[in-house]
Amino acid sequence: MTVTTRFAPSPTGTLHVGNVRTALHCWLLAKKHGGRFLLRIDDTDLERSREEHVAAIKADLEWLGLGWDGEERQSARFDLYEAEFRKLIAAGRVYRCYETAQELDLKRKVLLGRGLPPIYDRAALQLTEADHAARAAAGESPHWRFRLDHTAPIEWTDAIRGKQHFEPAKMSDPVVRRADGSWLYLLPSVIDDIAMEVTDVLRGEDHVSNTATQIQMFAALGASPPRFAHEALLTGTEGKLSKRLGSLGVAALRAEGIEPEALVALLARLGTSDPVEPIAEREVLIDNFDLGHFGRAPARFDEAELHRLNAQIVHRLPFARVAHLLPAGMGEAAWDAIRPNLEHISEAADWWRIVTGPVTAPRLDEADRAYLAQAAELLGKGGADWQTLTGALKQASDRKGKALFLPLRQALTGMDHGPDMAALLPLIGREAALERLEAASRPGAPS
Ligand code: GLU
Repeated sequence: MTVTTRFAPSPTGTLHVGNVRTALHCWLLAKKHGGRFLLRIDDTDLERSREEHVAAIKADLEWLGLGWDGEERQSARFDLYEAEFRKLIAAGRVYRCYETAQELDLKRKVLLGRGLPPIYDRAALQLTEADHAARAAAGESPHWRFRLDHTAPIEWTDAIRGKQHFEPAKMSDPVVRRADGSWLYLLPSVIDDIAMEVTDVLRGEDHVSNTATQIQMFAALGASPPRFAHEALLTGTEGKLSKRLGSLGVAALRAEGIEPEALVALLARLGTSDPVEPIAEREVLIDNFDLGHFGRAPARFDEAELHRLNAQIVHRLPFARVAHLLPAGMGEAAWDAIRPNLEHISEAADWWRIVTGPVTAPRLDEADRAYLAQAAELLGKGGADWQTLTGALKQASDRKGKALFLPLRQALTGMDHGPDMAALLPLIGREAALERLEAASRPGAPS
């Protein structure tokens, strides 16, 4: 069976770093096995789901290069849920309940007070058809619970967490449908995973106990469950309850100049035994991806690490990847010369302005000015390459090291540091370089 994964965001907000990580891992798992990665929009909550969030989620996935091979929307599948639900009613696996939130809360408190686990007592299973009729006559609608099978433990081998074991008798029968007919997440997700032929469910470990109940739902619907993997959650550098991390969205990182390759390279490896490296090639990440390398400890997301990785990635990006982001006229040679000095691609424009000029050199002392006049003369005569120029200057003046190079850099770029001058000089060109050297050699100028 083709490996099929799905990413199932609820469009009640935009993607944050944690969701992106799950989406990426689902994508990598599918690609690793030549399989399919599906997008499922979990919009059963019609009130809180927003079209603009759906659009933003898709735009973020596209920006990250996480294309999907198929798409479903839960809001378009209510007929299917209804039909499957009827089967569960017929099989006696769902039942009607009427307890209010307050009543349930009270029951829980009583149990906790007695030192017992706060499990639903299944009181509603005792109701007769006459009781239900009386409730209906009084205008009350039931909510529905899934009746867990208590006869055997629920077990699975989680691809990250290993052997898992749950005792259904120690769990509450989960509510699957509200009194107003709307669906809770648990059952539609199972119905969809069956219909979409999902083979691997990969999600955060906050879903582990959901998985236990969902495994029984798969069986109740006559399907064998997919493989499951639950990854440890991300924490911020400040610890588990990181507000910043929970709200840190793709759009904000993008605005800070983070490239998708950097976010992907970090999130692909964070929390695994593989080192985080500036890998811009997706194939390398795919080949290397292995759920067996995932650790069980929470993975720490450090924004500073992301920014460092981003710089390393920018230094490696080929011209073809960035050309559309560069100022007009800036070609491949300029990109190759300038990229080692960038943290963000947007800074390329600053260096390009320096190449194209005008630049203002700092005020230099008389000796440096004389030296630059000498440089201008040599440049006027000789070749316009850096080695030739500095070689000739070394002979002509008795300067070396910083005294030899720095005034030239200052005159040519107006800066004390920057890209390799050997690469910059041909970009500046002989004529402009000559003008800059002459201007810097004139007394009193430039200021
Ligand atoms: N919509 C669910 C969530 O965002 C999906 C969980 C799942 O992957 O099954 O938590």
